[in-house]
Amino acid sequence: MASRAFLLAILALALSQALAADPNPLQDFCVADENSNLFINGLVCKDPKLAKAEDFFLSGLDKPGNAENKVGSNVTLVNAAALPGLNTLGISIARIDYAPYGLNPLHTHPRATEILTVIEGTLLVGFVTSNPNNKLFFKALHVGDVFVFPMGLIHFQFNFGKTPAVAIAALSSQNPGLVVIADAVFGSNPPISDDVLTKSFQVDKEIIEELKAQFKKAY
Ligand code: MN
Repeated sequence: MASRAFLLAILALALSQALAADPNPLQDFCVADENSNLFINGLVCKDPKLAKAEDFFLSGLDKPGNAENKVGSNVTLVNAAALPGLNTLGISIARIDYAPYGLNPLHTHPRATEILTVIEGTLLVGFVTSNPNNKLFFKALHVGDVFVFPMGLIHFQFNFGKTPAVAIAALSSQNPGLVVIADAVFGSNPPISDDVLTKSFQVDKEIIEELKAQFKKAY
């Protein structure tokens, strides 16, 4: 019985870790050591005595990303890999550029809530709640408007204007992660079996093949 209680305690601990946001820091900062080969949860700290202002600094978010692609959007993400001073601080930021009628396609961030501010143009944004309700919350945003996408939920932003749009998004993880739904489902490597996809989506194999062809990556 004692070992069973122990196992339950371990399970509870594992679950609480899995459900938590980024862990709290145990020191003022932990600038990522880009030369370390160790794998830990986060990035290894460099000697704090060697930290400098540049470790907490990044320039260039005023520059537009290239949104001339199939979906018409570009995300410039500043996570702990790009800005070493973010390591252990539980936060990151992104600039998102949208061409006219451009879309930041359906995606989720497995480790972060996102708060988005429109600084140029107009966006239709939305997220869908988990089962069983799958309720869509959506809103048309204009310059200065703010919208929140709760952690892990599928969301999108669509520029419904004739001019480019720009947004700044803050995320509650140093490494939010990104799952683009179409890429993950129809462009996995190796591909998910047609038997799984036809049943999952309740459509014929031809439709699945067409979708796979769209999202197949060049390896
Ligand atoms: Mn997002």
